[in-house]
Amino acid sequence: MINILELNTKELTKFIEKFGAKPYSARQILKWVYKFGQNDFNLMTDLAKSFRENLNHSAKVEVPTIQLDHLSFDGTRKWLFDVGTQNGIETVFIPEENRGTLCISSQVGCALECTFCSTGRQGFNRNLTSAEIIGQLWLANNKLREQENYKSLKNDERIITNVVMMGMGEPLTNYKHVVHALEMMLDDTVYGLSRRKVTLSTSGLVPAIDKLSLDCPVSLAISLHAPNDQLRNEIVPVNKKYPLDKLMASCSRYIERAPRDFVTFEYVMLEGINDSDEQAKELIKLIKDVPSKINLIPFNPFPKSGYKCSKKVVIKSFQKILMDAGIITTIRKTRGDDIDAACGQLVGQVKDKTKRTQRLQLV
Ligand code: SAH
Ligand code: SF4
Repeated sequence: MINILELNTKELTKFIEKFGAKPYSARQILKWVYKFGQNDFNLMTDLAKSFRENLNHSAKVEVPTIQLDHLSFDGTRKWLFDVGTQNGIETVFIPEENRGTLCISSQVGCALECTFCSTGRQGFNRNLTSAEIIGQLWLANNKLREQENYKSLKNDERIITNVVMMGMGEPLTNYKHVVHALEMMLDDTVYGLSRRKVTLSTSGLVPAIDKLSLDCPVSLAISLHAPNDQLRNEIVPVNKKYPLDKLMASCSRYIERAPRDFVTFEYVMLEGINDSDEQAKELIKLIKDVPSKINLIPFNPFPKSGYKCSKKVVIKSFQKILMDAGIITTIRKTRGDDIDAACGQLVGQVKDKTKRTQRLQLV
């Protein structure tokens, strides 16, 4: 049984050839599956009956099952998906006035052990398949269309306009499946998202960043978090392998092929660790040759993290120093706080989440 979500347009066209089906039938199937969210071949009424029978016997549309589904008071919605491991994966939808962003996961856990990240603390379990990655979009899309405020939308009106690979996992260590899923997001017959509106966030795996710029350039975000190697070695340990001079050079190379003419640097604000005025000045020097924007992320605490979020005034002053040097710097708004959907809070304790689901019954 082949999962249709594993196949891009080319692969699906090839797969259905054996039933004597023409390429336009692949496009018909993709339209049913992705635009209408249909997973039952019997209901794909413009396909010949015998062809539908063949599909029933040889293919399926399979997505992870939803374990928990929370809607926050600010409209943020979070799903926990069962992927057959002890820990599920999480997907978060963040609605804003002119866009809807879906934050998706690429792995169960993460092996890179950044010290301030709860996913890193959890350790690594396994890579997601491309069907599990694109399946997060499929499910979110279907579920959002059932949500009261989106019910009246037509199928060709998008709810999810942007995708960020900022959920659980390091996407570039699951390269093959992630790139396959990215290509499907961009494919006009699948989701047709703009390259500019699909962002991959990485802790900085230099060879994979270079490879991505050739294979599938999308918008790039780098989890920087420290202005020098000494501190970054400590809090983002992958830095020991790919230190900052190499990382900065790869960012400059990436921009030459990227859909946007800048890289976003993410910088989590950790009290007394990386938030001093001197560190802001050091950061300016570090990134001076890379066209970039900075996104300051207030640290989201989790049990036994050992860190505190920087005070608001400190974050503001850090931002001002960067802005005065001409660097566009934003402070990330914390969304979905009441459902633990903020950055780095994507694991939590399942028991705790059960209580929350009872409060906001959605599943
Ligand atoms: N592995 C990738 C993508 C997932 S993490 C990466 O590291 O870029 C997405 C973002 O959330 C990263 O910038 C990460 O550093 C940040 N993050 C992790 N833990 C956090 C926390 N507790 N509070 C705030 N941001 C956090
Ligand atoms: Fe992995 Fe990213 Fe968390 Fe680091 S911040 S441990 S790379 S998920």
